[in-house]
Amino acid sequence: MNPFAMGLLLTISLLAFTFSVVRRFLPLFVMQSDIRWDNPKERITGVFKYFFGQLRFLRPFERIHGMAHVMIFWGALVVTLSTIQMAGRGFVPGWHLPGFGDTGLGLTYIFFKDLFTFSIMAGCSIAFINRVIFRPSRMILSLEALIILNWIFWMMGMDLLYESTLFILSPNSPETHVAFLGMLGKNILMTAGLAADSPITSQLHAMGSWGHLILGLSFLNYLPYCKQFHEVTSLPSLYMRSLKKKGELTQQNLEDEDALFGVGKIEEFSWKRGMDMYSCAECGRCRANCPAYLTDKPLSPMALIMDERDLLKKKTDHMCRAALHKFKKEPEKAVEVLEQWEGDNLIGDVISEDAIWACTTCGHCIANCPLMIEHVDNIIDMRRYLVQMESRFPKELTQFFKGCENLSNPWSLASNTRGDWFKDLGVQTPEENPDFEYLFYVGCAGSFDDRYKKVSTALVGLMQQAGVNFACLGNDEMCCGETARRLGNEYLAQQMIGSNIEQWNSIGVKKIITACPHCFNTIKNEYPQFGKHYQVVHHTEMIRELTRKGAFKGAKKFSGKGPVVYHDSCYLGRYNDLYDIPRDIARFIPGVKLMEAERKERTGFCCGAGGGRMWMEEKIGKRINTERFEQLAATGARTIATACPYCMIMLDDAMKEKGVEEEFEILDLAQMMLRSIEN
Ligand code: SF4
Ligand code: SF4
Repeated sequence: MNPFAMGLLLTISLLAFTFSVVRRFLPLFVMQSDIRWDNPKERITGVFKYFFGQLRFLRPFERIHGMAHVMIFWGALVVTLSTIQMAGRGFVPGWHLPGFGDTGLGLTYIFFKDLFTFSIMAGCSIAFINRVIFRPSRMILSLEALIILNWIFWMMGMDLLYESTLFILSPNSPETHVAFLGMLGKNILMTAGLAADSPITSQLHAMGSWGHLILGLSFLNYLPYCKQFHEVTSLPSLYMRSLKKKGELTQQNLEDEDALFGVGKIEEFSWKRGMDMYSCAECGRCRANCPAYLTDKPLSPMALIMDERDLLKKKTDHMCRAALHKFKKEPEKAVEVLEQWEGDNLIGDVISEDAIWACTTCGHCIANCPLMIEHVDNIIDMRRYLVQMESRFPKELTQFFKGCENLSNPWSLASNTRGDWFKDLGVQTPEENPDFEYLFYVGCAGSFDDRYKKVSTALVGLMQQAGVNFACLGNDEMCCGETARRLGNEYLAQQMIGSNIEQWNSIGVKKIITACPHCFNTIKNEYPQFGKHYQVVHHTEMIRELTRKGAFKGAKKFSGKGPVVYHDSCYLGRYNDLYDIPRDIARFIPGVKLMEAERKERTGFCCGAGGGRMWMEEKIGKRINTERFEQLAATGARTIATACPYCMIMLDDAMKEKGVEEEFEILDLAQMMLRSIEN
């Protein structure tokens, strides 16, 4: 190898790469701040789990596709050392990294290098076949992805050529004892007629090393311009992943006059969201089970991130100039430069409003993205902008917001009728029972919706039977603010949260039980943002606990319409990991034959109501609740068990729309338990 040529190749490649990377990262400096370096211990643990451990690629439903990625990823980490050594040998023949060479460590490395070269080539081949022939619907057949796979494959092919010819030229090298792949290549080439003294062997050897390095360095320079840039950003992205609780939205600071009210421009996202845009590997795992995408709404979480990334790239020049002004402490000039942008707008041109409002916030995308990109927060940021800055939202939400503002319930029903459902049930209010242990926070659906009032009643029956000391606020209860928050009306949500905390403090609430996963999630995971931690229990948790304590020993054979299938509520399951508890209750009830839907638990399918979707019309594509009802009915079950008012209402609507009320029954687990006791 010619040292001059090697020096030139390395200098040009590394300078060009540095320039491209700086150009990619500079725009992040004009994006909003976000502290992502607290709690280093937890962050490092996550890096080992999700980056080195590739945990999200190895889930049961993903094994083959995931393994291909793991094989390439681990291979790249190992083989990179060999590439560094190869470049070094361009200057000093036979150079190796300190400690390597013909020693035990060096030879061990050579064995693993061969193993992982094979792993990369096999991984690329599997991934190529997967993409072209067995492509799952979540993936796109992108030419770029196929080019990248070929690029990596041939980079390894060149390395193998280099090693195989090396062994022909130096047959006594100690490496020949461990480099099984190189020896296989050597034998094939020698069988084909190559020999140590043939000039073509030396030429192929040079071609192998130059080919490997040129392909490697050109690939390095291609990275910042393609989806493979995640090879650079995934490690910092995963280290700086969100550590907030899964069901928690970020809190908007309403006191700070300079704070943004949502995101209307690409630079108004935080720098971490910008990094996420670069990190997206276009794998499509986020949309594999996205209810909006799968029912033909104009939202695909993958496309959302890719489209935002395209806009970020288009705006790079402006943002780089603005960043330089920012470094020179010229904030006005930075703003001026950004305002000169005359290209596409984030909302409208790049991301349609229909897409923004189509999200059910079910969390499937976040739970399954290997790069832990935060799609829901991204969408809520844009909703916040639309609602708070532009007052632009689907017209049917006007009634929703008015109801919440004036009557503290989205149904706009008189708040002095909120407690009517328990008039004859012997339920006490905190005034009547000041020593209550649990506040039964009923929520709006449990108080006003006829279907869910039956669930509230069933839960009261169970708690009374088990002797639980609880109280209900009745007409004094207010909406918890969950849905207003997910609809982007942070101001209204914070008002509601503040009022609840004030009221609950005044009566000494410590423990809360609720039959609504949305209230449960918000009070448990979001109220602490406002300084209040309550011990919050979902009714399924309490029922299972009481069951274990023997409170419902008298349960008899459940009389239902047939086998039972449990529908996972996203806010109970994906956001709060309560998958087994509801199933345990169903299994406890005598006579219940429990079926499972194909889409369940972490890959469960939303009912279509979350994120305020229940209050919006669904005019585009197939109705999500119909799709889910069909999935559940396909199991052969005739009783659909739920643990959430939204799920119950949506599935009940779908059942009625299909006109199959005679065949099916939709019951909350509390109702099923009570029915079996009353039997
Ligand atoms: S939260 Fe659910 S509906 Fe929204 S983009 Fe993600 S997967 Fe789709
Ligand atoms: S957002 Fe995540 S899951 Fe979706 S395509 Fe990108 S990397 Fe894959």
